[in-house]
Amino acid sequence: MSMSSVARAPLTPMDVAGRAERLRATFADAEIDVLLVTHLPNIRYLTGFTGSAAQLLVTADELLFVTDGRYGEQAAEQLESAGVTARIEVVGQNQKAPIQASVAAATSGRGSARVGVEAQHISWARQRELAGDWFADGELVATEGIVEGLRIIKDDGEIQRLKAASAIADAALANIRPFLAERPTEQAFGLALDTEMRNLGAEAPSFETIVASGPNGARPHARPSGRRIDKGDLVVLDFGALLDGYHSDMSRTVMVGEPSATQARMLVVVAEAQQAGVDAVGPGVTTGDIDAACRSVIDEAGWGDAFLHATGHGVGLDIHEAPRVGAKGDATLAPGFVVTVEPGVYLPEHGGVRIEDTVVVTSDGCDVITTATKRTKV
Ligand code: ZN
Ligand code: ZN
Repeated sequence: MSMSSVARAPLTPMDVAGRAERLRATFADAEIDVLLVTHLPNIRYLTGFTGSAAQLLVTADELLFVTDGRYGEQAAEQLESAGVTARIEVVGQNQKAPIQASVAAATSGRGSARVGVEAQHISWARQRELAGDWFADGELVATEGIVEGLRIIKDDGEIQRLKAASAIADAALANIRPFLAERPTEQAFGLALDTEMRNLGAEAPSFETIVASGPNGARPHARPSGRRIDKGDLVVLDFGALLDGYHSDMSRTVMVGEPSATQARMLVVVAEAQQAGVDAVGPGVTTGDIDAACRSVIDEAGWGDAFLHATGHGVGLDIHEAPRVGAKGDATLAPGFVVTVEPGVYLPEHGGVRIEDTVVVTSDGCDVITTATKRTKV
């Protein structure tokens, strides 16, 4: 057997430094003077910092990056290599002081500051602390999805990373697939897939790999169990590779042995639905349109009630990010959006089928970046 490997083009640098300026351009609409960014993937997006503790205050004319003693050196190195100019403050307990001072400076002479906080990413306790203690003289403004709104359109460097991560997952499946014929447990197959992705250069799996066989496959997010994969099983594989912070995401369904008539029909219907979804992707199309394209094929087959989840989601620095691709999705796709298309049919008596690709929206359609075979035989 020839093993698939992954070509190793070096990753090109991303234009991280330009992102803060695009963020500031949203402040007027959001009615804020400054934004306190606390969600780590958003901090990574704006600065290149990959550590686990930081706060970033974005004002009209500076970036204040606050972290603790564990990360001072790393922050300086990573921000510099990303070309990001920021004032880095390494403080232990009292992170409040430099942030308060910067907010005061940013709004001096213009009344009280309107301090935006990322409402979806802070706890109630933290909100009370910010409103009651940190910014008692200012106005705390709950913001939603401001940085995420920038992240929704991926730049070339991000797309390159998502493609490279997808290529690792594609190659790992190609290499490990024959193992399915040896009656592995779900856990053993999942571990082999994860190990192979790491061997091929992934930092980690994108999320906990799903290997769901037989009746387990009828539960869309089953965790790998000790169940042995055997003849007569549909096996849902949903997994991805993490590379330089970017997540790949793909599902394939493999039939071990001969399918029953119903299983064969499930495979055909989901494949058609998934293709209809991919065919619908393009600039100007709403996420709801993509969902409808998939759902109508499954509805026509009589299995509308067995399609238990939304059609897809954005993917990037988070495995699930904006936009949601569901029935109520009203986001309009534009070039640079990266979304998954992953319809499924789940029937407890027969198992589950899900097929998922990740696609990049282009100027005239989309580019499918998950290229593993959709062949259903082992
Ligand atoms: Zn997936
Ligand atoms: Zn997905």
